[in-house]
Amino acid sequence: MKKDYYEVLGVSRDATKSEIKKAYRRLALKYHPDKSKEADAEEKFKEISEAYAVLSDDEKRRQYDMYGHAGIDSQYNYEDIFRGADFSDIFRDLGFNFGFDDIFQHFFGGFGRQSQRQRQGRDILYRITVSLEDAYFGGEKEIEVRRKEKCPECNGTGKAKGSKVVKCPVCHGSGQIQQTSRTPFGHFTQITVCPKCNGRGEIIENPCKRCHGTGVVEQKRKIKVKIPKGVADGTRLRLAGEGEAGEMGAPPGDMYIEIYVKEHDKFVRRGSDLVTTKKISYPEAVLGNEIEVETMDGKSKLRIPPGTQNGERFVLKGKGMPTLRGGHGNMIVEVAVDVPKKISGRERELLEELANEMGVKMKSLSGRNFFKRGK
Ligand SMILES: [Zn+2]
Ligand SMILES: [Zn+2]
Repeated sequence: MKKDYYEVLGVSRDATKSEIKKAYRRLALKYHPDKSKEADAEEKFKEISEAYAVLSDDEKRRQYDMYGHAGIDSQYNYEDIFRGADFSDIFRDLGFNFGFDDIFQHFFGGFGRQSQRQRQGRDILYRITVSLEDAYFGGEKEIEVRRKEKCPECNGTGKAKGSKVVKCPVCHGSGQIQQTSRTPFGHFTQITVCPKCNGRGEIIENPCKRCHGTGVVEQKRKIKVKIPKGVADGTRLRLAGEGEAGEMGAPPGDMYIEIYVKEHDKFVRRGSDLVTTKKISYPEAVLGNEIEVETMDGKSKLRIPPGTQNGERFVLKGKGMPTLRGGHGNMIVEVAVDVPKKISGRERELLEELANEMGVKMKSLSGRNFFKRGK
């Protein structure tokens, strides 16, 4: 007996699409066969994936709500159930670095007919590291990638000039080969993809010399990547259709750019705020002052009130990182009262006078050992 799809995902019958997606994400992470320690992870993963494929599709969900499993099984085969369901987003978010096709190959041995169809080109993931300045101002970066592109010689067809496409002599056009083997359990018929034509059922009489009939060639390509203003560390951008070209004219994959933002030596990023430390002198802390603080786009004035304590924080409004909505975070300035290591004779005189004025008893330290500095 097949389990109820809602039960499988642990959601109520009136769950929203996003609740269903959330539930599937959580379970996919738990039962992913490569990551899970559960014994029946693979079975579970199949189960939740099927439930998600049905419930995330409005029409299939309606069928299921009305007629239960019979409504689905009478209408759709396995391939149809999964066709149209979008897993790639979820898998990418979860950090699984393979596509659903790969999983499918693994679980269900492919779809037979699916492999007969043309395979979409692979997605490419590219990582770039940018400075905090780049993230602040935004801009463009040029990257160089190696990827499979449509063969210019044959325009992706894989055929040499004037070559014909003929029926595959091995599978006679079916794209499949049946092999029957005898096992202790009886005859076992296995259908596999024809190795000669890769399931296409036809072969090119005279393949293109440049791409050996695949329709794609590897090429180095410079690509301009737009760095969005305020981009967060770890952001993933999608460049649709910039992945690898599909073989034999199949559609290309997508390119994903993962952007890492380097740490800055002056500013620490906290969300859209920037935190910086500014040293001030003891008189400034006591008397207050107007000082200059470095920000991402030049210097800014900051007034420090009299009696400022070491470690006190001040906010420069709008001087933080740009946000993707068009605003700006703040700059947080943490004040550090600087204690000079060396002073002039005149400074010493004044400080001794100040100490005297403040009633601090000063003892002579000449010729004395100091205590060890702690950590
Ligand atoms: Zn064949
Ligand atoms: Zn070619």
